[in-house]
Amino acid sequence: MNFEVTATKKRPQSFDDLAGQDFVVSTLKSSVQAGRIAHAYLFSGPRGVGKTSAARILAKSLNCQNGPTETPCNVCSNCLEISRGNSLDVIEIDGASNTSVNDVREIKDEVLFAPNSSRYKVYIIDEVHMLSNSAFNALLKTIEEPPPYIVFVFATTEIHKVPATIRSRCQQFNFRLVNVEVIKERLEMVTGEIGVKADEDALFWIAKEATGSLRDAYTLFDQVVSFSGGHITLEKIREKLGLVGLDDLNELAEAMAAGNATRVLEKSDEILMNGVAVEQLIMDLAEFFRIILFINSGIHRETILGYAADRFSTAVREGFSRSQLEHALRLILELYRNVRYSLNQRFELELLLSRLSDLKGYLNSREILDQIHTLRGELVSGSMGSEGSDGMGGKASEAVPQNDAFREQVMETMRKKKLTLSAALEKAVSWVLEGDVLRLSFSDSFSENLLRRESAEVIQVFNEISGLQARLEIVHIQENSDTDYEEPREEDDQVALVQKVFRGEIVRGESR
Ligand SMILES: [Zn+2]
Repeated sequence: MNFEVTATKKRPQSFDDLAGQDFVVSTLKSSVQAGRIAHAYLFSGPRGVGKTSAARILAKSLNCQNGPTETPCNVCSNCLEISRGNSLDVIEIDGASNTSVNDVREIKDEVLFAPNSSRYKVYIIDEVHMLSNSAFNALLKTIEEPPPYIVFVFATTEIHKVPATIRSRCQQFNFRLVNVEVIKERLEMVTGEIGVKADEDALFWIAKEATGSLRDAYTLFDQVVSFSGGHITLEKIREKLGLVGLDDLNELAEAMAAGNATRVLEKSDEILMNGVAVEQLIMDLAEFFRIILFINSGIHRETILGYAADRFSTAVREGFSRSQLEHALRLILELYRNVRYSLNQRFELELLLSRLSDLKGYLNSREILDQIHTLRGELVSGSMGSEGSDGMGGKASEAVPQNDAFREQVMETMRKKKLTLSAALEKAVSWVLEGDVLRLSFSDSFSENLLRRESAEVIQVFNEISGLQARLEIVHIQENSDTDYEEPREEDDQVALVQKVFRGEIVRGESR
């Protein structure tokens, strides 16, 4: 059985086959349908997203024996010749290798001859931006007043290099990168057709790795199929392509979250000894931290992450603040940019990893400023006396005004997450945030005990909302009768004062 490359086999033959270019497709289809054929089209966009395929489909639409039609038959001799690339009336020119004026002059002479056996003579010029300036000028003359049977389709990956004079005379279509999900669907279709089993995350990986190019996805897919033995899995891909396993990355980042530099360096050694290249490890680390940053920012969609969020270690997902993750990503990308010029790539990587082992201690300048403000607040409230320290929330929360807003948000979140916990939190006598300690006081021992058991969940919610890295401290306060009568006693004091100033006596006591 001869093997046909998937990218060739799956080359789109009709407008509806073109993946992920809905706008281009619908516009082209309706203009063919309405008979509004331009003399020059300019297809721009990244490589491997279907520009040349679209040009050929357009040529078929125009020249199909049953056309012009937006659904070429693909069986008449004209369609077949165009598909095979041997139609005399559809001329494909690679701008990269035909850049000179003479090449364009040839076209200029040729266009004077009517098509051989079709309605239109279609010139498809790929990588048109590669033409020289004088070639462009010669071309301009041709597309200004072409014979009615001539259609030019220019394709380019670098639209900004195409002179404005050319652009303005073309109907322009901008092709987009193909969405990961669309690519994955296409790959799924192929696995069905060739009878290969494939894990969901493995196809996702291929789709993501293709960065928007369906052609690249098919090429990578063929490579993966060749070593997968009938069942494509992420593990096989990682092993065969020398990538770092997700488990390894999780372990590495867990050691960073624990601040364990020894473990980080040992683990990286282990990964490199398994044959992973230094640059690959840096790239995989960058991708890993990018995903953790996304998760940390509340993005869990698998189509964006490329993996299910729960495949990433909880300790890592919850171990770092957003600014720490941004900082890590910045350091990794910086090394990625510079590592190729390094005398010793491995040393550079180890230096990076050692620095990342201290990631937990990293604060950005705004956070440092916040900490200074908090500390200053504490110093000020501390100098006013120690009466606030035995649990009554009112005074302490004045020092940290945002405390109450956090409290409300935490309660709100908890109510949705776990009712029992939110009910227990409601019983807190006070919430005081001092430095990195969130102190909750309880007189009700049932709620207190429940919160002690579930403290991790509470502080996680608080930290997510506040952006802090606070610890939770739960304090028990005595429920004594004094507490209940504190305010009336203050009132009594005032009454006593009035009594004293006016030298009077109390006739009748009445509370409002
Ligand atoms: Zn046809």
